[in-house]
Formats: sequence, C-alpha cells, structure tokens
Amino acid sequence: MDRNTGWDLPREETELQALVDSADWIHFAPECKMWSTARAGLRGGGVAGRRARLAGMRAQRPTIEMCARLARRVARRGGAWTIEHPQSSLAWQETAWIALAAQPGIHRVIVHQCRYGLRNRRTGELVRKPTTILSNIPLPGLTKRCNHPAGHSPLVGGKDCAAAAQYPRRLCTALVHAALPGL
Ligand SMILES: [Zn+2]
Repeated sequence: MDRNTGWDLPREETELQALVDSADWIHFAPECKMWSTARAGLRGGGVAGRRARLAGMRAQRPTIEMCARLARRVARRGGAWTIEHPQSSLAWQETAWIALAAQPGIHRVIVHQCRYGLRNRRTGELVRKPTTILSNIPLPGLTKRCNHPAGHSPLVGGKDCAAAAQYPRRLCTALVHAALPGL
C-alpha cells in the first residue's frame, strides 16, 4: 500500500480483502467523475450521449459495490470505514450504498471543502465542493460549511473537477482527528 496515494481502484477484490483485513480504518474515495449530476444532466450528444453517460456509470458500478462489500468486511472485524463522494454524486443513489447507509449505527456528515482550504489548482480560487462522508464511526467536529459571503465560482467541466480532486491538507487532518476517537 502506498500511504500517500492509497490504492487505485478497481483492483482485484481478493488482493484488497487482504489489505482490508490488516487495517483498523479504511477510507474509500472511488473515482467520482462518472457519477457527477452535472455530467448526467448534460444535454449534449443526444440519445448517444445519454447512452454513453449511463454506460459510464454502469462500468463504475462494480467499484461502488465492492466498496460497500469491503466496508461491511471491515466492520465485521470491528474496524472502521469511511466513504467519501461528492454530496451530489449519483453513486449515493446506488442500491449498494443505500443499503449500506441504511444499516444501524451509520453516520453521514457533509463538509464544504472551501473551509478546509480546497482551491482550484488551475485558477487558485477557493472551491466549495460539498462532500458527503458516510462512516460506521462518528466524525465529531467534521462539520464545516461554507461561510464565505461572496460565494465561489462553480467547478466547470472535467478540467476544473480534476484540479480540485485532491483533498486539502486541513481536511485530511480534520478527518483523522474526527476519526481517531472511534478507532
Ligand atoms: Zn466557501
């Protein structure tokens, strides 16, 4: 495992199971591009474009389902899991994640990443990027929402989204501090 970048998904589930079984806490952050509501709502491309977008989500569905299975596996061993995706991600409407979220003792927090210093690396501007974190441990204090009176420019298109994909350091620190008491 690379402790800086984590593991790339998808990978062989059996390989991930072994890694999951040796960890006290697993944080899942599967690729979100395909699940963007903005992308799904695009009108361009007509029927063919819509089909391509649905096919993109279908191709990513196994990864979403695998995260849910691995999360349950961690929990069975008494370990902790967190799953992060944009608040507006269509992945939250996937059966596997709905079922996971419906279990007893599950927590859901929403943070706005501008409060943790997320910037568009292309433009340097702060980015709100509302983000949901689902977990089987409470994440006290991980609650900051945008309080910037002037608001922010929205992320436009894939380039901007990629430029704001990496967590700001302060969010990493806040997540660890929130999770530690539950481990
Ligand atoms: Zn803000």
